[in-house]
Amino acid sequence: MSTESGKISVQTENIFPIIKKWLYSEKDIFLRELISNSTDAISKLKKIALTESFEATEDYKIKITFDQEKRTLSIEDNGIGMSADEIKKYINQIAFSGAEDFIKKYENADNKAGIIGHFGLGFYSSFMVSTKVVIETKSYKKDESAVKWESESGVEFQLSKIEKENRGTKITLFLDSESGEYLDKWKLKELVKKYCDFLPVPILVEEEEANKKTPLWSSSPSSLKKEDYNEFYNYLFPFSGEPHFYVHLNVDYPFRLQGILYFPKLKHELDAAKNGIKLYCNHVFVSDEANELVPQFLTVLKGTIDIPDLPLNVSRSYLQTDPLVKKISSHIIKKIADRLVDDFKKDRDAFEKNWDEISLFVKYGIISDEKFYDAAKPCILFKSSNGNFTTLEEYLERNKEKNENKVFYAPEVESSSSMMELFKSSGLEAVLVDTRIDSHFIQFLEGKNSEVKFQRVDSEITDQVVDKTATNIVDENNQTESDKILEFFKSSLTRDGLEIKVESLKSGEVPSLIILPEYMRRITEMNLGMNQDKSALLKNHTLILNANSKLVRNAYQKSKGLNPEKANLIAEHIYDLARVSSKMLSDSEMGIFLKRSTSILEDLT
Ligand code: ADP
Repeated sequence: MSTESGKISVQTENIFPIIKKWLYSEKDIFLRELISNSTDAISKLKKIALTESFEATEDYKIKITFDQEKRTLSIEDNGIGMSADEIKKYINQIAFSGAEDFIKKYENADNKAGIIGHFGLGFYSSFMVSTKVVIETKSYKKDESAVKWESESGVEFQLSKIEKENRGTKITLFLDSESGEYLDKWKLKELVKKYCDFLPVPILVEEEEANKKTPLWSSSPSSLKKEDYNEFYNYLFPFSGEPHFYVHLNVDYPFRLQGILYFPKLKHELDAAKNGIKLYCNHVFVSDEANELVPQFLTVLKGTIDIPDLPLNVSRSYLQTDPLVKKISSHIIKKIADRLVDDFKKDRDAFEKNWDEISLFVKYGIISDEKFYDAAKPCILFKSSNGNFTTLEEYLERNKEKNENKVFYAPEVESSSSMMELFKSSGLEAVLVDTRIDSHFIQFLEGKNSEVKFQRVDSEITDQVVDKTATNIVDENNQTESDKILEFFKSSLTRDGLEIKVESLKSGEVPSLIILPEYMRRITEMNLGMNQDKSALLKNHTLILNANSKLVRNAYQKSKGLNPEKANLIAEHIYDLARVSSKMLSDSEMGIFLKRSTSILEDLT
């Protein structure tokens, strides 16, 4: 073969300026593309070596070298190599048809940046950084001679026979004036580490091996121990300690997917916002923004996902619409839920210890994804007022006689409120909820289980907390003591939106309580969030005075002999005690409450 020249395609003439422009911020990826081509060439040869015999040489490797004076950068492998015909076919035709496709899509596209993102420009991305590219290659087949392909523009090429001793391909880039940064060992090593750390072939930058790690996700799960997973986790994310749990993904059909996902111990709430999932394609790093692959609630996960069938240059918009991505996402959701339920069943104690940290994630997942709910529902836990953790099922079973499918609940921060004291001393059980998400979570669970109704402990006075044996003797005016207590407090406390009632409660230790109807509280909380200004809730509330409370009875009795100012002060204070217990005092009201407490104590001392 004498030197052959040719022109590849007319349409491609304008492609390189476009590629350069769009990919400029990502021009590093040319190295990834060339190294992964070399890795493929070695993998192919390894496969062939299983059945054919050929002149085996040294160990498989990829060598990266550069020459600062000549401004050249070379990537050399001892893989399968190419014959002259293969160069024509794979480099001139196939690769360029990719480029042509690109041009066509580019011309008609609205989302031009999105388009470039998922084009496998492969070998041709080397023109992003070069004024000239040379391929010297020799096929593993004995009777093929070595060839040299060179092109200055990416449009015209020359092909000639050469002498080349070793099998494999060497690609030499003559770097352009803006790409001198690649003539630097440190920079090259860094790029190899970033993109090619997990490739199964040693990659030498100026004779120094720059990649080392075996991709743990490709090992068989049964061969791995917890320590291996933890070690790998800390390799990926240094100083992360131990994760809460991990899931090893390993699917062959109907799609190929491998990976390991870790649920980190969250040190700060903000940690959750970081991009923790790294996306790989056949062990080549693609992106650390794999968050489009998993639904939002799973973005707290960290780890690796390897999808061999995804184009190397994936863009976010591509991921959002790809049907493969949807299937992968469903698979991951199911796997995570299964893992949780598994852990729950295997070691409930350990699961309960972790629950505080993972519950927000689980609940958010359940609310936002039907499939996750279906799979994860057996492991939903609540803290109980009896000090243990409970599932909803267990709670309902334990309390079915008393509660009739009602689930009493109280915010955990109010777990020692007067109402909860009364509740516990009356032998009732409530689940304690977390204010951040539980108003939505409870609503969601009710929607799913029509027979279950959540009721806040302070939304009404249930029969079980009322002392039915209390006597109610009427006096000569046909009034009970309760009537008189009511009268006194009504005359002392005048507030818009306040209703006052008297009840004989089972515990004498609770003087007063605030009651808010369930529906009203929910509406207000939905509109304003849990941590709203409490005054919104007080537009319509009930003060319950306990006729069994010594304080309430004394207050009423003694009020007869007191001047009205003092009597009012006591009534106000008892009312405020109820509001303090329900965490319903505003800051300024708290000030008044404290001042009043001081003056009451002064009177006593
Ligand atoms: P892709 O890798 O997506 O197929 P490329 O443009 O990167 O596209 O490469 C085109 C083809 O050229 C490859 O499929 C392969 O057949 C061949 N090729 C590229 N680099 C090498 C190499 N280092 N050794 C052997 N063949 C190669």
